[in-house]
Amino acid sequence: EVIISNLYKQFGDIEVLKDIDFTIKKGEFFTLLGPSGCGKTTLLRCIAGFEKPTKGKIFFGDDDITKLQPWEKNIGFVFQNYALWPHMTVYENIAYGLKVKKMNKAQIDKLVDWSLDIVNLSQLKKSYPTQLSGGQQQRVSIARVLVLQPKVLLFDEPLSNLDAKLRVKMRKDIKELQERLGISAIYVTHDQEEALEMSDRIAVFDKGRVAQIGTPEEIYEQPDSTAISNFVGKSN
Ligand code: ATP
Repeated sequence: EVIISNLYKQFGDIEVLKDIDFTIKKGEFFTLLGPSGCGKTTLLRCIAGFEKPTKGKIFFGDDDITKLQPWEKNIGFVFQNYALWPHMTVYENIAYGLKVKKMNKAQIDKLVDWSLDIVNLSQLKKSYPTQLSGGQQQRVSIARVLVLQPKVLLFDEPLSNLDAKLRVKMRKDIKELQERLGISAIYVTHDQEEALEMSDRIAVFDKGRVAQIGTPEEIYEQPDSTAISNFVGKSN
């Protein structure tokens, strides 16, 4: 489980996150939902270790990971823009993180094949990123994260660069692989439909605070405030 405890983040005088406090259960698909600028990406970056919170703590189980560097955390981060290396094949892109860890070739091949199988791209191992569709590129970027066998997967608006039809398909694909691996996922989006369809629970953000946490049904059927019902609820 991931515990966010009394977390604050300031950039200069601006308080971007205020008193964030919740626990993500093991194996849970947990979504941070809210309009642009409400602080959800900043929270994800604090969890990953790209930003340091001004106050508060983050735990993995009993371990305080607030001050650890990103590479010390055993967390996988899937970016919005894929961030693949254009001069490397799919195989090389995925294998890179394992080579850095000085793993031997046989082990690397086995893990790369395993991760490509999960995202259903085994046949494209030797292709270059520019030869792939946007959806395929995003699946490579997910495989590149999975190959490191992280304990938690973080997604920052991973589908926003895809066309509408592919977005709907990728929702199912991501949800399915997350369930199959039984790994916790923290997923940032401003897309209500995406959040309602994919999540076990949703935290609705409003101006740097969590306005409500609940299952998709609870958030949709019983929004706590007009702000939330305007953003996700039935009145929408
Ligand atoms: P979006 O979906 O547009 O990314 P968001 O909800 O993820 O929105 P954040 O990206 O977390 O919001 O940004 C929250 C606020 O923090 C914004 O007002 C943004 O301008 C500010 N902010 C983010 N990063 C920095 C930074 N490095 N320095 C100063 N201000 C920042």
